[in-house]
Amino acid sequence: MDYFEPKTITEALSVLAKYGEHANVIAGGTDVMVDMKYKEEPGCLVNIKKIPGLDTIQENGASLQMGPLVTIRDIETSRLVRERLPLLWESCHQFASLQIRNTATIGGNICRASPSGETLAPLLALEAKAKLAFRDGEKTEAFISFFQGPGKTSLGSKGLLTEIEIPYPPKGSHGVYLKHAVRGAMDIAMVGVAVLITADAGNSSLQDVRIALGAVAPTPIRATKTEALLRGRSLTAALVKEAATLAASESSPITDQRSSAEYRGWIVEALTRRGLEQSWKAASGKEVV
Ligand SMILES: Cc1cc2nc3c(=O)[nH]c(=O)nc-3n(C[C@H](O)[C@H](O)[C@H](O)COP(=O)(O)OP(=O)(O)OC[C@H]3O[C@@H](n4cnc5c(N)ncnc54)[C@H](O)[C@@H]3O)c2cc1C
Repeated sequence: MDYFEPKTITEALSVLAKYGEHANVIAGGTDVMVDMKYKEEPGCLVNIKKIPGLDTIQENGASLQMGPLVTIRDIETSRLVRERLPLLWESCHQFASLQIRNTATIGGNICRASPSGETLAPLLALEAKAKLAFRDGEKTEAFISFFQGPGKTSLGSKGLLTEIEIPYPPKGSHGVYLKHAVRGAMDIAMVGVAVLITADAGNSSLQDVRIALGAVAPTPIRATKTEALLRGRSLTAALVKEAATLAASESSPITDQRSSAEYRGWIVEALTRRGLEQSWKAASGKEVV
């Protein structure tokens, strides 16, 4: 196996172009090293950790720009993220053990494209974008189209994720990330639900609502029918129940070693209901009745 430590993005891209699908980028290595042990070794490893400038968190007007080498622990300990993007902060706080959080990067979590990846549902709800670099240029793409299937992204084997841009949610927004796993944060999510609501000026109805579901479809998804049902309405217990059932019907979970598909559907329903109730209470100070 060949091994490279490029010092620039251009250098990394030329190695990726040369080795094509036989190359594997490595960042924190918490997924790649496990794959190398239990699956197969790639023809070449491209360690991007020596490329400067990919590990910063910066505010840029009404959004936050994050390098792909920012670790999950960097996010968890960032006051800026905690104050401005609590939804993303919450998902990183519930991510694996401290040892893994210290090593795992947000770029690796995204590019792994596991439907259960902890940060993915929050990034969809926050309508974040990816900056991607290829040999023939750069492009910016919303994460909703970036994820194409388990382990598949629009990067293919020849591109690099170079930045994550996360717009701040509108004023009056409140969000929650709820994870269901057998061993809490120590386990990969069986279901993850991110809910972000924006209350109207009088705190009487939902001006906007975004719901993203993780681990219940081949990619993380937005529950768009549920969002449409709720937008502009006042939240009542009956509406929350209807929305939670609809969100479950928008998911298409599988049965695997972690859970049956049926159980995952029930959890989507329960977490959507809880997410709506909690974010409404945070936004308006009122319980849903
Ligand atoms: C014990 C354990 C517990 C875990 N618990 C969780 C959990 O609770 N929640 C969760 O979501 N995940 C969990 N994971 C999975 C893993 O830690 C995460 O997916 C992590 O964020 C991957 O980041 P990394 O930097 O280690 O990625 P790496 O392993 O280095 O890379 C992951 C993938 O992304 C690609 N890649 C990385 N960076 C880039 C880039 N900039 N451009 C293009 N491609 C890139 C690599 O080629 C590889 O395919 C766990 C893993 C372990 C071993």
